[in-house]
Amino acid sequence: MTLFCKQCNERRLPIVFAKDKAPLWICNKCGNFADGEDVIIREVTKEEKEEIEKKLEDFNNNTTLTGEKLKRRKGVN
Ligand SMILES: [Zn+2]
Repeated sequence: MTLFCKQCNERRLPIVFAKDKAPLWICNKCGNFADGEDVIIREVTKEEKEEIEKKLEDFNNNTTLTGEKLKRRKGVN
């Protein structure tokens, strides 16, 4: 399964490079990309790693915000 790295069993993250192409799956721990069939394509470059870490931060921030909204909704009910 592509969702989990076959080398270290960490969760992979899908990274979309082009809208009309399938995402590549990155393992942050091993630092490589796999395609949808779990075939490792190439190593992650330093620039890409920095970019992905930024995206992850955004993702985590968004998740936190959503969690707060849900809590507020619960309070209203
Ligand atoms: Zn890995």
